[in-house]
Order: sequence, then C-alpha cells, then structure tokens
Amino acid sequence: MTIYQNLIAGEWIGSDATKNINPSDTNEVVGLYADGSAEDTKNAIAAAKAAFPAWSRSGIWERHVILKKAGDEIMARKDELGALLAREEGKTLPEAIGETIRASQIFEFFAGEVLRLAGETIPSVRPNIGVEITRDPLGVIGIITPWNFPIAIPAWKIAPALCYGNTIVFKPAELVPACSWAIVDILHRAGLPKGVLNLVMGKGSVVGQAMLDSPDVAGITFTGSTGTGKRVAAASLEHNRKFQLEMGGKNPMVVLDDADLNVAVEAAANSGFFSTGQRCTASSRLIVTEGIHDKFVAALTAKLETLIVDNAMKSGTHIGPVVDEKQLKTDTDYIEIGKKEGAKLAFGGELLKRDTPGFYLQPTLFTEATNQMRISREEIFGPVVSVIRVKDYEEALATANDTPFGLSSGIATTSLKHATHFKRNAEAGMVMVNLPTAGVDFHVPFGGRKGSSYGPREQGSYAAEFYTSVKTSYTLA
Ligand code: NDP
Repeated sequence: MTIYQNLIAGEWIGSDATKNINPSDTNEVVGLYADGSAEDTKNAIAAAKAAFPAWSRSGIWERHVILKKAGDEIMARKDELGALLAREEGKTLPEAIGETIRASQIFEFFAGEVLRLAGETIPSVRPNIGVEITRDPLGVIGIITPWNFPIAIPAWKIAPALCYGNTIVFKPAELVPACSWAIVDILHRAGLPKGVLNLVMGKGSVVGQAMLDSPDVAGITFTGSTGTGKRVAAASLEHNRKFQLEMGGKNPMVVLDDADLNVAVEAAANSGFFSTGQRCTASSRLIVTEGIHDKFVAALTAKLETLIVDNAMKSGTHIGPVVDEKQLKTDTDYIEIGKKEGAKLAFGGELLKRDTPGFYLQPTLFTEATNQMRISREEIFGPVVSVIRVKDYEEALATANDTPFGLSSGIATTSLKHATHFKRNAEAGMVMVNLPTAGVDFHVPFGGRKGSSYGPREQGSYAAEFYTSVKTSYTLA
C-alpha cells in the first residue's frame, strides 16, 4: 500500500506509517499515513522559517491565485473528498460532502480577502507627522487540529494563515490524516513555494509537543480538547508566543412553552445527534420549560425512532458510527454514569450491530436530568443528550449559563421578547434562535468564551486578529 508522506521543505518524505481505519468498517484501511518524528517537526519548522521572508512579501495576486485554485479543486473533487472524509471519520456522506464544500468556500473567501488587505492612514496629534496602521504576518504558524472536522478545520486555519503572509507547520489529528494530506497536496500543486506549508502527520505527544517546544513558532492555532488546549497555552506563554484555542462545549438549547414544537424537535435532533454528536457546537443539554416538556420529549423520542444509524457511506444513513473505540468507551461510560446519577434513560443507550463491523451506538436521550449531574456538566462528545426540566424562562436562562463552557447557545421560542433577551444574556460566543446550536456560516466570526475558547475569533475577516500583528508607524512629513 502507498504511504502518504509528510511534506517538509517541498519534499514528500517519511517511511514509518500508521493505518487510517474506517470506523464504519474496521476491516477497511483507508490508507497508510506517515508517522512523523520530533526531528521531522524541527525540520519542518526550519523550512517554514526559511520560507517566511519571501512569502510574507509575496504579491497578493500570487496568494490569491493559489488560494482560488485550491478552493476550485476542492469543489471540483467534492464527491471524492467527501467520500474520503466519510470513510476516515464516519460522518454520513451528505454531511461529509457538505463539509468539503465548506472547505472550498473558505479558500474562496480568503482568496477574496487577500485582495482586500488594507491599512489606515491617520493624522497625528502632533503637527507634520503622519500615522499609518498596518498588519504584519506573525511568522511560522503551528496548526494543530482535531479529528471531528477533518477538512473544514484545517481549511479555516490554513487559508487565513496563508492569506495574511504566514508560513505553516500543520499537524492534523492522527485519526484523520487523509483529508489533511489531500488539502496539502492540492495547495502544493497549486504553486506554493517550498517550505511555505509543511505537513507533519504523527502523534500529538511527539509532533504536537515538538511544535509547542519550539522558540521558532510565532503563533499556534489549536482546536481540540480542553486538556491539550491548556498545554498549548502553558507552552506558548513560556515562549511568549501568540496562541488561539478552540476547545470543548456543553451547549444548551432552551425550549420554551411557546416554541413551535416541530422547529424545536428538528433543531434538537439535528444539533444533538447528527454528525454522531461529535461537534463542538452540538447541543448536549436540552433545557425545557414545564408546559411543553412532556410533548417535546414524546416528539423528540418519536423522531429518534426514525433515525437510521449505519455505515456512513450507505444511502439513507442519518447517523454514522462513533469515530473510534476510545470515544465509544467514553460515550458508553457516560451512559452508565447518567444511569447511576439517577437520570432516566428515555431512548437508546445500546451498541448496534450492522453489516460491517463498526462503532455503532444508538442516539441516547436522558430525561429527568439535573444541571449538576456529570452528564450535564462534562463534555461527552457523542450522541448522548440530557433533558433538564425547568419552571420558566428565567430558570432556563440561568441553567443555560450555568456551565464552565460558552461556545454556542440556542433557544426555541416564538416570543420576540424572550429571543431578544436570550441573545443579549446568553454567555456564549454564538447564539441561535429557532436553529440548531451547530451549523455556522464561513464568513463570520466563530468561537466562544469561558472554558470553550481563548484568544481572537476564527473565520471571516475577524481571522486577521490572530494571524497578524498590528504595526503603528509615524513619519515626519
Ligand atoms: P485532542 O485535544 O486530543 O487533540 C487535538 C489535537 O491536539 C490532535 O491533533 C492531537 O494529536 C493534538 N495533541 C495531543 N496531544 C498533544 C500535545 N501534547 N501537544 C500538542 N498537540 C497535541 O482533541 P480531539 O482530537 O480528541 O478532539 C476532540 C475535542 O476537540 C473535543 O473536546 C471538542 O469539543 C474539541 N473541538 C472543539 C472545537 C471548537 O471549535 N471549539 C471544534 C472541534 C473540536 P493526536 O493526533 O495525537 O491526537
């Protein structure tokens, strides 16, 4: 089998490899992907450092052409890359194609953004002096990504890093290297100069750690778990480098008595269970007021009955497998914890057997949960959701905000008053009214607060905040 190698200083290298396994069919090896070392990482950082002076001063048209070419190729290959994504991560084929289209759109967006780079010219408070405010690229950016969005998250970090003139060392999650390899191959062929984008696949504890330990990495953008995020933060402070963290969530969706029941059920089913609940923006706490509680639980349970859990590649599958055995164990452990804590298992909770061996788990709904239970406080990152009954809107809002996380927060209501109040008072980076908590646009800021995120927002024009450093220049006229 071919080994998909790492790209370091414009050369494909690496002979040690790890198997990429399909979670829908564990007999299938999606491919063999290089297992990089600390030495490879050091070489990649050195290559990115050497490439920075020329790339940071490259013309914006050159950058535009490369980003545009990448976006176009990803779009042209959306079915093939979507299938690769579904096979390596386990989200359904339509979800995976949708994510691939998203990656293309992100490259298209930053291909446009690079042509709009601008500064400001401002009069000085002193006579005969001019002031200019411009943005410089940071230098070598370390990109560390998780397994749950194998093409979109790499795209929303790589595209802005290149757009603003940075060079890159990119380490994707070891579980899902295939889409990352494909993006890097596309950009390499699109004409990126040697060393501008380096790919080092391998273990977080080896490759990721070598990035954290390097004084030559000027900025690290990280998406992943809270635990690893804290390591990135500590190491980055040590090196006085800029860092950006997107981490976990325990996103609430409030359902009020006046909600449109269908809208509430569709939003809850989508954000709680689609993509196997493995989205940082997934709703894992449904906070429901007394008047609608029983009707809502009955309708949501009826909806869950209709959802098909099966091979991600099969037409008609609504929910693919859990990503791997380790995550499946986390999910089933939490299901046991929920039962022991006294929540009522209203639906699911069982492992499923399908035609192909995979990590299939029923969508799982707990009712009679409290917000203090571990299943309501800790991120599970699987298709496991708790319903928390509350008296009224005020209690619902307080419960929604009573969490260490703050990524996305939703409400289902037909009341303008409550929707407006919720938008103002939800302690989250993103608020959704009558929509799933998951599912965001690519051209506007993405990120959270409290334990979910640290540093500037990602995506849209707000991405400039992380990938550049502001410079103020004074000139005597
Ligand atoms: P991890 O934190 O385990 O891994 C994230 C990345 O960090 C992986 O590439 C991993 O490498 C790497 N890593 C692991 N150890 C180190 C280390 N010592 N130094 C540097 N890098 C390291 O998270 P998961 O991949 O398990 O992703 C799931 C988590 O991500 C969930 O908690 C989820 O909420 C969060 N997430 C947040 C999002 C957001 O935007 N807020 C979006 C998507 C996910 P390796 O390949 O070896 O694992």
